[in-house]
Amino acid sequence: MTKDEQPVCPNESNCPIYKEVDELRSKVATLSTQVRTDYLTGLFNKQHLIFALEQEMERTRRTHHPTTLILIDGDHFKSINDTHGHVIGDKVIGHLSKLIKETVRKIDIPCRYGGEEFAIILPTTSILVGIQVAERIRSKIEESPLYLKPDKHLKITVSLGVDTHYYHMPAQPEELIKLADKKLYQAKSEGRNRVCHGDTDRNEKTTVSAEEKEALFSSEIK
Ligand code: GH3
Ligand code: MG
Ligand code: MG
Repeated sequence: MTKDEQPVCPNESNCPIYKEVDELRSKVATLSTQVRTDYLTGLFNKQHLIFALEQEMERTRRTHHPTTLILIDGDHFKSINDTHGHVIGDKVIGHLSKLIKETVRKIDIPCRYGGEEFAIILPTTSILVGIQVAERIRSKIEESPLYLKPDKHLKITVSLGVDTHYYHMPAQPEELIKLADKKLYQAKSEGRNRVCHGDTDRNEKTTVSAEEKEALFSSEIK
């Protein structure tokens, strides 16, 4: 290779290869955000919920800090759509997601689970604290009607189900979702605009039996 044929240095800011790699990096970063994000609300999507839940439950298994999941479903949403139309229905979904985002901590993971359904992962959080957070979200939404026009506000309520994964409970994300969903269903059937939750006694379990240790160990070496 002659001196003139030297490859362009990738560290130079005017190098075309460096520029192209930089552009590709930025495109990959944008795409990886888009693939985890719900287009309507900007919250994480269901795909990311499963991924993040898997990670947090694994962290629970290793650190023994519990992971709590809150599921939220808008009350009587069909009738909001029927009365005010889908455009307002979508605005309500945006309004709910904004209130949820404002109410949770930075380390929490708020997701849009489906139409007017949301899920929030609370890492390193016991069921008792999870219930408090859920209650805070419920009352914040109840107290924050959506402004439609002067003198016209749309009152919105939600129902919430809360359950928690502890290290001694071998479980997959789908199983924790099922538990929280059961509680959400209970909140609906008990009259809506309320929080229902799993057993708070599980919170008190701090010791591990020999069988549990063995189960924990055998799953550790998989
Ligand atoms: P419940 O209190 O029992 O939850 O009653 P509900 O009417 O909210 O019933 P459900 O949760 O089963 O139905 C949700 C409805 O939300 C169904 C659909 O009409 C509406 N919906 C779902 N996704 C969207 C969306 O993206 N935009 C709008 N505007 N509406 C949606
Ligand atoms: Mg629903
Ligand atoms: Mg609903």
